[in-house]
Amino acid sequence: MADIQALMHQAPPSLAQYRRQRAAADLYQRALPGTIFYGIALAITAWVGGYFPHYGGAMAATLALYGVLGYLRWVHTPPQDSADTQASDRWWWQHWALVNVGCLVWCLFFLAVGHLEQDLSTAFLVAAMSTIAFSSAGCETYALHKRQALWVVVLLQVPALLYFAVAVPALWPVCAVLAVNFVYQLTHIRRRAAEYDTQMSIEHALLTSRAEVERLSRLDALTGLANRREYDSTFRTHWRLAARQQGQLALMVVDLDHFKRINDTYGHLAGDTALRHVAQLMEARFKRASDMVARIGGEEFAVLLPDTNAEEAMQLAQALCHTLATTPVPWDAHHIPLTASIGVDCMRWDLDLTPQASFSRIDSACYTAKAKGRNRVVQA
Ligand code: GH3
Ligand code: MG
Ligand code: MG
Repeated sequence: MADIQALMHQAPPSLAQYRRQRAAADLYQRALPGTIFYGIALAITAWVGGYFPHYGGAMAATLALYGVLGYLRWVHTPPQDSADTQASDRWWWQHWALVNVGCLVWCLFFLAVGHLEQDLSTAFLVAAMSTIAFSSAGCETYALHKRQALWVVVLLQVPALLYFAVAVPALWPVCAVLAVNFVYQLTHIRRRAAEYDTQMSIEHALLTSRAEVERLSRLDALTGLANRREYDSTFRTHWRLAARQQGQLALMVVDLDHFKRINDTYGHLAGDTALRHVAQLMEARFKRASDMVARIGGEEFAVLLPDTNAEEAMQLAQALCHTLATTPVPWDAHHIPLTASIGVDCMRWDLDLTPQASFSRIDSACYTAKAKGRNRVVQA
């Protein structure tokens, strides 16, 4: 069953799907306790009216019916996959049928009490007060769907009121009060249903913006690559997983060469364009779903390569180094040349005791590449 708390923590689906999912979860939970209250009110009315000795069979059958309805409401859980609109719709109407049968059975009982009593007896007053309580609770509880909530308050009382109006004059005063209450309930349902709708829209907007903020917080604004925070957490996860299985995980640390000069010569905007250019080239190169390219500093990038051995990683790094050196950055009328120094290696489970240790080792290899003259790859 779609739990409301769980819904709040998922990335939101479309508004229509969210409403469907949320309304189904609400309907299921709100319909659960209903039959217990019907049963209690029925038993008290029958007791004060002295019905058990005369109508024991009918009373037992009605109470048993509420027992069965309660059980069905409990086991009839909403479909797991709310994207399946057909299954969701089928479930929705079946569950409303379970709710409506409960209302109608109460109304028939109320009608029978009025018919037997023919007057404002204690039993009739208990039944009438219970009817007011049930219909008031119904318009609050079931206002998640306006038309269905209307059906609930209609089925709970209107057939009985019509019968009393026609056939039992002694009950007319109570009929009048219930009728006024009924009209009030109709306006209440309208208002509550509108409020429920607004609440759904606000919740959905909040969830959508929260998901968007969450997504943006993991991206680098300039290049659209994963940012340092995302890289750190993904690297740690992959590292631990690979360490447990003694598997292969490769890492590249890429630092652009003399990048300050590009800024100084062509301006900061040209520098930004160069960073985006490098990001595009890297993304085009590392396309496997498990590969991750991140911008981890000003002009520093990292590439995480799961299931890749040192030899393959070395080849990939050399190919990247070559691509960067042979694809200058288009800027105005210029083509700005650009190179990078790359440190690369596979995680070494005999040497690296922590993710930080692996990173430092490969980052040092990147500095060695700088020291050796830049535009090259060094294996850690
Ligand atoms: P080296 O070859 O030794 O790495 O030299 P370098 O100039 O690349 O290294 P250094 O660390 O001296 O300078 C890095 C430069 O990167 C300085 C900074 O202005 C530039 N930079 C960092 N982030 C950005 C950015 O977002 N946009 C631009 N345009 N430049 C940036
Ligand atoms: Mg640097
Ligand atoms: Mg640099």
